Amino acid sequence: MKYIFITGGVMSGLGKGITAASVGRILKNRGYRVTAVKIDPYLNIDAGTMNPAQHGEVFVLKDGSEVDLDLGNYERFLDIELSAPHNITTGKVYRTVIDKERRGDFLGETVQIIPHITDQIKACIRQAAEEEFPDGTHADVCLVEVGGTVGDIESMPFLEAARQMRGELPGTDYVLIHVTLIPEDTMGDLKTKPTQHSVKALRELGLHADIIVGRSERVIGANTKRKISAFCDLPINAVISAATAPDTYEVPMEMEKEGIADVLSAHLGLETRDIDSSWYRVVTKEYTNRVTVAIVSKYGIEDVYISIKEALKHAGRSLSTEVKIVWLDAERYERCQLKDYDGILIPGGFGKRGIEGKIEAIKYARENNVPFLGLCLGFQLAVVEFARNKAGMPDATSEEMGEGTHVIALLPEQEGLTELGGTMRLGNYTADIRDGTLAKKLYGEPQIVERHRHRYEVNPRYIKKLEDAGLVFSATNKNRMEMLELPGHPFFFATQFHPEFKSRPTRPSPPYIGFVEACKVNKRTK
Ligand code: GLN
Repeated sequence: MKYIFITGGVMSGLGKGITAASVGRILKNRGYRVTAVKIDPYLNIDAGTMNPAQHGEVFVLKDGSEVDLDLGNYERFLDIELSAPHNITTGKVYRTVIDKERRGDFLGETVQIIPHITDQIKACIRQAAEEEFPDGTHADVCLVEVGGTVGDIESMPFLEAARQMRGELPGTDYVLIHVTLIPEDTMGDLKTKPTQHSVKALRELGLHADIIVGRSERVIGANTKRKISAFCDLPINAVISAATAPDTYEVPMEMEKEGIADVLSAHLGLETRDIDSSWYRVVTKEYTNRVTVAIVSKYGIEDVYISIKEALKHAGRSLSTEVKIVWLDAERYERCQLKDYDGILIPGGFGKRGIEGKIEAIKYARENNVPFLGLCLGFQLAVVEFARNKAGMPDATSEEMGEGTHVIALLPEQEGLTELGGTMRLGNYTADIRDGTLAKKLYGEPQIVERHRHRYEVNPRYIKKLEDAGLVFSATNKNRMEMLELPGHPFFFATQFHPEFKSRPTRPSPPYIGFVEACKVNKRTK
């Protein structure tokens, strides 16, 4: 097992996750099996309880763990499915060590950050790295991304663990990539001083950057590279320029051109192999069409819905169609704006704020034959809208939102729960698809598996009433409604699960393909 550690310097938000995922893709295109671990140095056990407006999307894995959005990047770039151990947090590490202490596992010892916490971190990294793939094979290479910025108090134990691993592993099994910012001054010159300082901070921790990836707005030239090479003590070919790309899937190609594969191979003792460029061809397929989709949500920032954005992109590429997204604030948009779009998407979400605006948009899509895709909360609100306006329940709502006829109700197993962390209906569940439905046409299979994250569901008491009024629940898991559609409408489709989590550039998600296709048709006939 070879380890590639990825650290960050100067500031957060540099795209370390995309850099790590891109490095993985570059190796995967050469036939290596790659896995990835993300370290998040915060005290939360997982990302599930964190506000996505602050921390970005909560990504859900097949086993139901709620993790950092970078695991989504790894899954999409590497085309793998990860599990809980691949997201290590300070909270998880400390909880394990403290539980062991209480059990008496360290009896007599003083339990300390070094060695107890660092040993636990190393054990967690190895456990994740060595996890089997479904075909029984193991990874050849494990990427370990250390969240945060070098110098933060929070990441110290993790960097110390990284230092210890360097000493414990043969030289060719370890490489450290430091991702840093190369800002421009007011004269437009690229400045290396912040990078020099962050490399100095790494050195103080006993770590050496083998490769530096410099993030900048424009490509870093030879002079700047020479300076970094001299001050940071590494060969010039180990300084890789990573200018901001128009599309993240282009980053591996750009890094490939910079020669990072040769530097990595030399460090890790990998043989030179030919590149399989089929993935590159898929992610750069030409666009011949364009559609515009409105996403109505209460959050202003796009990072909250990164998987939806990517799933639309994957489906769009496969249909040679660029999907332009316009984000509408659910509390503020004007109804007349809705006519400008080829399709309307209502994403997942929590809480009352903005829901009337979302319901209004669903009504507009239903009444005006505009393609509609509802996801999780979007599915639930489609039921509420239909109940109010078509099934004779004008006060219909979701139990999550307050008083009224609860066509959406708390899942029975959620009744009386006292803990909020990790307790939703999470991860993979099957859905049985009814014959003769749009759902069946899209998925082409009688049973599918998708990832979930919800506490509420369609209230079984009202299913018959809704169906009698014309709503079709096209997939179920026992008496749980998983998909809905409206016959006679060009595309009115919603899922209780989040199909975006399984979408890949090479395998777009069926509901997204159906939606983008319907948007294309709508645009042509408008
Ligand atoms: N708030 C809703 C529920 O808990 C929907 C959740 C979501 O959209 N992920 O069921």
